[in-house]
Amino acid sequence: GGSASSSTIKQVKLDKESELRIEVGNDTPLRLRLLNGNAEIFGTELPPEIWLTFPPRLKFAVFSWYGATIEMDGATETDYVADETPMISYVNVHAVLEGRRSRAKASSDDSESSQGPRVIVVGPTDSGKSTLSRMLLSWAAKQGWKPTFVDLDIGQGSITIPGCIAATPIEMPIDPVEGIPLEIPLVYFFGHTTPSNNVELYKVLVKELAGMLDRQFAGNAESRASGMVINTMGWIEGVGYDLLLHAIRTFKANVVLVLGQEKLWSMLKREVSKSEPIVDVVKLQKSGGVVNRNAKYRQRARSYRIREYFYGLANDLSPHSNIANFSDLFIYRVGGGPQAPRSALPIGAEPAADPTRVVAMNINRDLLHLVLAVSFAKDPDEIISSNVAGFIYVTDVDIQRKKITYLAPSAGELPSKFLIMGSLTWLET
Ligand code: ADP
Repeated sequence: GGSASSSTIKQVKLDKESELRIEVGNDTPLRLRLLNGNAEIFGTELPPEIWLTFPPRLKFAVFSWYGATIEMDGATETDYVADETPMISYVNVHAVLEGRRSRAKASSDDSESSQGPRVIVVGPTDSGKSTLSRMLLSWAAKQGWKPTFVDLDIGQGSITIPGCIAATPIEMPIDPVEGIPLEIPLVYFFGHTTPSNNVELYKVLVKELAGMLDRQFAGNAESRASGMVINTMGWIEGVGYDLLLHAIRTFKANVVLVLGQEKLWSMLKREVSKSEPIVDVVKLQKSGGVVNRNAKYRQRARSYRIREYFYGLANDLSPHSNIANFSDLFIYRVGGGPQAPRSALPIGAEPAADPTRVVAMNINRDLLHLVLAVSFAKDPDEIISSNVAGFIYVTDVDIQRKKITYLAPSAGELPSKFLIMGSLTWLET
């Protein structure tokens, strides 16, 4: 016995303004701690000497402003130190935002001037949007602000499962392992992982979310002064570009941060420079540490997110398997429902599916492996304008006995009988 298990421990010295970039190995977690100095992970400071455990495949950087020594224990896919980072330019943006928050707080009236910065982060996929959003939020929270994080990325969002747009207040620097706390998110279910499935619906939901936040801010001076950080999708061409403009306008963003794309920056600058009040369009460098993720990786990441929702990050939650009668549940789908037959239309009219029509669905085997959202709607008419309480996963549909078996995060009755389906599926592995 007695194998030398300590042989994997290694120390890394970080000079000032440099970072250790890590991709945790595929199979085993990595332990890491700060031995001395100061260091942060995406804006959140590391506690001294305490071992932190990072799950397999996580990609992150430990950055130090003044120098630090880091200790690592475990296998990595890659780890290297980089001394060229855009962190100074990012923290300069933070400083400008801080100034605006303080001015908003000091402003006595209830109008525009008490509104803190509404920042929107845009750029192609894998330009570091989520990471920059996270840093700006954590730095602000560290100074005592409560900025609102809005995530419009239905593919790789970081507030809840894929297929959703969501918002949540950030009250503490974001935990580098656990991510965003899930207690109080405001979530709208789109049901697909790309907006092209129903662009109109995506826009409507963005509007609903923005409207809801405006109402919440109206009665909350602290949140209003703290402002928002809005993360977006990496789709920046064609319809994707239109959706960015739509988000900028709908959320009344006054700072647009463009990561790693000159062309997008100049297009947006030209477009929104005519706006009133003034919108600042700022070009920022992409970090060399941002890792490209291919389609397969993204697909897998989506699947892990759904698994995490039901089972927890460390497999520490136990979801419940429940059985319901067909007659107990009402399942709806938005848009794309059965269209009126051509024969029922006036001569010359084309059958068009109303993208925001709420269609009642029959329960059948097609529901198998679908992830459904549990709506807060009190009436089917409210499905689109309502946020959702959570999600269930359909594991069996028994046509003969008219029973449906599903996984839910907890036991007991669902908060509502109104469920929304899209094309979001999951294969439990
Ligand atoms: P986007 O939101 O633009 O698609 P992300 O911010 O999600 O891009 O970054 C892509 C991946 O790169 C993420 O896994 C993120 O954790 C990782 N990453 C970002 N910045 C760094 C860095 N400086 N060092 C190492 N990994 C990084």
